[in-house]
Amino acid sequence: MKKIKDLEEMEMSKCFIGASYSEAIYKNATHIMGFCFDGTTSFRPGARFGPDAIRDASFGLETYSPYLDSDIEEYSINDCGNLPIYPSKWRMTNDYFHGVTKDLNLKKDNIKFLILGGEHSVSYGPIRLALDNYDDLCLIHLDAHTDLRDGYLEEKFSHASIIRRVYDHFTNKNTLIQYGIRSGQKEEFEFMQKHNTQAKSLAECLKRIEDLPSDRPVYLTLDLDYFDPAFLPGTGTPEAGGENFHSFISIIKLLKKKNLVGADVVELAPLIDSTGNSSAFASKVVREVLIALQK
Ligand code: MN
Ligand code: MN
Repeated sequence: MKKIKDLEEMEMSKCFIGASYSEAIYKNATHIMGFCFDGTTSFRPGARFGPDAIRDASFGLETYSPYLDSDIEEYSINDCGNLPIYPSKWRMTNDYFHGVTKDLNLKKDNIKFLILGGEHSVSYGPIRLALDNYDDLCLIHLDAHTDLRDGYLEEKFSHASIIRRVYDHFTNKNTLIQYGIRSGQKEEFEFMQKHNTQAKSLAECLKRIEDLPSDRPVYLTLDLDYFDPAFLPGTGTPEAGGENFHSFISIIKLLKKKNLVGADVVELAPLIDSTGNSSAFASKVVREVLIALQK
């Protein structure tokens, strides 16, 4: 962390389109940060190219969302660029983000982060930051996979164990809501059952979110393989039987009315889908998340 500047000094970017990396963090603003890390990917690598593909595809998008009746140009959004990290070193990735953010007071200064992955293990640092700043945080996890393994392929902090590693830091004031899940080990499904974390239908997911008090801090971690590979094939671990854009929109509409304090969108591997459709899809999803983060 270099310093916190006043908003007036901030150079407003018109859209969430590329920026060279900057560690300036502004009050009353949402900060986009790319985590170009895919070092624990077990199947198809390439999520390190996700953040810039999302930015590039945003050229083709309107800044106005008809779903949320809101325009990202109305808001203070700062693209910090991509963290200067080595794409295969998890510890460096996490430590770097911790170093940039550890002295921030997110609540007092109304600072929010939208992290672009990278593989899902990059979410650990941002979720820890949110837990440190909001002790009653509710975590919403949209994903095809449980991500509740106690480690994978000798990595304790793997993309396949990231929700479990975050859950390690939960207290009885925190809540986890998981939706879109259709793959995992039997033990992981038993974990969800035991802790009642899984919403088994869209209606149940919406009900659980609806029931949250409007001032309850909420963090959204969105693994793009939540969506069916028919819609978004450009991801590391595609899983048939997935969700469509409209289920996401119904969730994000609700989250816009809640107190969304941070989010990440991870696992776009753009080179796997040479049509570019996955990147365009992901970019549109990011626009909606950016708007939902605004009050
Ligand atoms: Mn997944
Ligand atoms: Mn995941």
